[in-house]
Amino acid sequence: MSVTPIRLLGDPVLRNPAAPVVDFDAELRQLVADLTETMFEAGGAGLAAPQLGVGLRVFTWFVDGEVGHLVNPDVSPVGEETEEAPEGCLSIPGFRFDCRRHLHVVASGWNMHGEPVGVEGSHLLARAVQHETDHLDGVLFVDRLDADARAAALAAIEQAEWAGMAEYLPVLPPVVKASPH
Ligand code: ZN
Repeated sequence: MSVTPIRLLGDPVLRNPAAPVVDFDAELRQLVADLTETMFEAGGAGLAAPQLGVGLRVFTWFVDGEVGHLVNPDVSPVGEETEEAPEGCLSIPGFRFDCRRHLHVVASGWNMHGEPVGVEGSHLLARAVQHETDHLDGVLFVDRLDADARAAALAAIEQAEWAGMAEYLPVLPPVVKASPH
């Protein structure tokens, strides 16, 4: 397993819809391991393959002490209830904005061994599943904010130290770019 640099807002890979997984092979199991380890190191509640630069429909989560992953997920809301709560993203480090999500969801898909699996969750787990599934469609949580909140969020993000960088390694200090002479 290895900790892998996380792609940041502005990297085109975060905007490309990811492709379904076809081969449930050793490479997929390595991807799940890398996602899991990088998510732990970064202290995130979830991580999707495009955030590591891999355009496949795979994500992991770590919520309430439970770690999981889902391949080729199909997510549906359960009921009509929604919840607005602070949300963040490892590809937009250092920011949290209130975001409205379905309160309950059910998701089906496959595990890394190609076995059908499902997950049903509420609150933070439901939020993580929706957030990570969005990543597979090239959608970031700031896209879910209403127009005013989104404009304010993007203006704040533009001032971030990492803005304009393509990636960061969660366990290492930020790279200081030498200015050209
Ligand atoms: Zn995210």
